[in-house]
Amino acid sequence: MFSDELEKYDWDETGRFIASRTASDVRAALRKEHLTVEDFMALISPAAEPFLEEMAQLSHRYTLERFGKTISMYIPLYVSNACANCCVYCGFNHNNPLTRVTLTMDQVKAECEAIRELGPFENLLIVSGEHPKINGADYIEQVIRTARPYFNNLTIEVGPMSAEDYKRLTHSGLNGVVCFQETYHKENYRKYHPKGMKSIFDWRVNGFDRMGQAGVHKIGSIV
Ligand code: SF4
Repeated sequence: MFSDELEKYDWDETGRFIASRTASDVRAALRKEHLTVEDFMALISPAAEPFLEEMAQLSHRYTLERFGKTISMYIPLYVSNACANCCVYCGFNHNNPLTRVTLTMDQVKAECEAIRELGPFENLLIVSGEHPKINGADYIEQVIRTARPYFNNLTIEVGPMSAEDYKRLTHSGLNGVVCFQETYHKENYRKYHPKGMKSIFDWRVNGFDRMGQAGVHKIGSIV
């Protein structure tokens, strides 16, 4: 499980190790084709600052080698701002007295048609707050089935689900899942996510394991 992997790292010790990297550690990492975690730590250390241009050039080279000259565009569709969580930085926070809207399938269909009229968008990102009773797996499955005929690629950015639910959605036409992990620092995580399912750190980070178990084709973690 991802949470077990995270347990292997002590936050402060890792921070000290990163801060102790030197210019020669950075140079050694830049010369390698295959990097270790320690090399990565050197590249994000303060000692790497003078090498930013060199890193940018390398990054550009690798990007061209692997992907060619392509740009992948996606367009987000917000389907529900109902949320049972109270993340302190978010306007959808359950305690905020705002009008909550959850699109009906007719409205989802109308939005998809309007997006198609905007241009050749093939990647739709379906975004929602996290309220299991209002916009849980059943609702998201309906949205996927409604949007499926309009786009080649459907990704969701919604509350983490069980492996069974991810599997069900994959069979309904889901291609990918994106999940934000605002911080891996457990104490700060508790501070910023005081209530609701999102307050359960392990449930959140192990969502990536469940996506893999369910056979989700594309998994994205955003930090
Ligand atoms: S779970 Fe997502 S939508 Fe809900 S309050 Fe937190 S960040 Fe906002």
